[in-house]
Amino acid sequence: KNSASDAPELAEPYLRAVLDTAGLAVEYVRAEGNTLFQRGEDGGEIPVADFAGGYGSVLLGHNHPAIVARARELLAAGSPVHAQFSRHPYANELAAELNRIIHRELGDQEPYFAIFANTGAEAVEAAIKHAELDRGMRVAALGARVAEEIGAARAAVAEGTAALSARTRARFGAAAGEGRPAALEAVLAGLERANAGQLERPPLFLALERGFHGKLGTSVQLTHNEHYRTPFKSLGAQARFVPHGRPDVLKEVYAQERGVLLSLELTDGQVEVVEREFPVFCAFLVEPVQGEGGIHVLGAEFAQEIQRFCAEIDCPVVVDEIQSGMGRTGALLSSSQVGLRGDYYTLAKALGGGIAKTSVMLVREARYRREFEIVHSSTFAKDSFSCEIARTVLALLEADGQAAYRRATERGRALRAELESVQAEFPDQVLAVRGRGLMLGMEFRDQSQADSEILRELATSGLFGYFLAGLLLREYRVRTFPTASAVNTLRFEPSLQLADDEIALLGAGLRELCRVLRAQDGARLTVP
Ligand code: PMP
Repeated sequence: KNSASDAPELAEPYLRAVLDTAGLAVEYVRAEGNTLFQRGEDGGEIPVADFAGGYGSVLLGHNHPAIVARARELLAAGSPVHAQFSRHPYANELAAELNRIIHRELGDQEPYFAIFANTGAEAVEAAIKHAELDRGMRVAALGARVAEEIGAARAAVAEGTAALSARTRARFGAAAGEGRPAALEAVLAGLERANAGQLERPPLFLALERGFHGKLGTSVQLTHNEHYRTPFKSLGAQARFVPHGRPDVLKEVYAQERGVLLSLELTDGQVEVVEREFPVFCAFLVEPVQGEGGIHVLGAEFAQEIQRFCAEIDCPVVVDEIQSGMGRTGALLSSSQVGLRGDYYTLAKALGGGIAKTSVMLVREARYRREFEIVHSSTFAKDSFSCEIARTVLALLEADGQAAYRRATERGRALRAELESVQAEFPDQVLAVRGRGLMLGMEFRDQSQADSEILRELATSGLFGYFLAGLLLREYRVRTFPTASAVNTLRFEPSLQLADDEIALLGAGLRELCRVLRAQDGARLTVP
């Protein structure tokens, strides 16, 4: 039974029990700005400083007054929320505003077409599907071109206006003295065998180690974390994961995985076999700042290398800005700060202002396939309510000469300074402070070899950071969580309303946490 009510617990009771072991399964009854209010034992409200920030969705703060007012206004006016397959000026205007900001940040005017969805993972799935539709169309066009080339060569050989070169004959085992028709048949059969295998090859995705792109059928295959990914391996397209900062590995993967279609080319009356690059690589997914993988910033240099590599092999770049985007790092597109340009972008989380569930996948015009609009949709996507809320979010980010982005940078600096001072005091406990803007992480040293038996146990439970977060919540009324795939790293993604005294409170909690770890006082991390 749930302690707060008599109803049987059927909504993920196991997860609640796990959270309970770290003392995190408290109930929040109200939220405002950067504060969540926990239900106290006496029924009263206990304010908690929120550094988890809805996993990134409440950049503007909980229940931002302007967003709540807009929501009220829309509902009070009886504005149609679900009027699918009609004109949708609200969606066009939202897409136009996103384009206006993106053009400013990229310094380029190429339009990005918008496909709306409901969640982050869904936007990633839409990007993957679009990229595969595009790849399929490129494969079909290449197949037609090759068929045409082979047809022309075949006709020329049959007519006697061209001859198979010695190299072409040798490649397909047509003996030098063999008659023209037999040799031609051998070459054509050989080409067909070689090409059939290629044409049926499934798409291959590229993604970075530690990357996180969602947990749906295909997106989870691009999420590096094995616990999330491998049970569902047979559900989705496969990815090769590449370590950060290793352009040599990119080249190696390319050499191992690339594909070619064989074709015939006529030159000076000779028929030669030529290779036409086959599009195996469907998309390369990158997070400008990896969130769930432990808050790792993509360096400008490696970003440029990825960009160059993808341009060379004609593989679209999907920049997943679901956690890093929407102003959190000081720009709508965090990637624009490292000079990375996406063929696709995904945005979600804060796009809905912490109130609406919405996401968008953007595709640059040069890659856009309008056919996608006919084959992809969702009942709930592109609804007027979430589009209007998202427009309000953009207006808030852009207001007062784009003050919100500057605030994210400034608040991020203040928070980072506090985290770094904790690290400087406790270098024996804190391994690193990382991130950009209001997307920061603190990595603690591994305790699996600790003197304290309790600490060793917690460290090997796979939930270590949750116990760190439990102490912060219990003793300091500070809410944070570890990142999903790197549990020794605590994440800090508060709202723009983050106050100096909340930073100081977090600092005090982290210092105490470090003292507890230094003293090997494992019992303090467990629920009393
Ligand atoms: N991509 C990234 C970079 C994310 O951080 C997340 C969520 N943590 C997702 C995709 C998935 O978003 P959602 O949880 O809304 O499906």
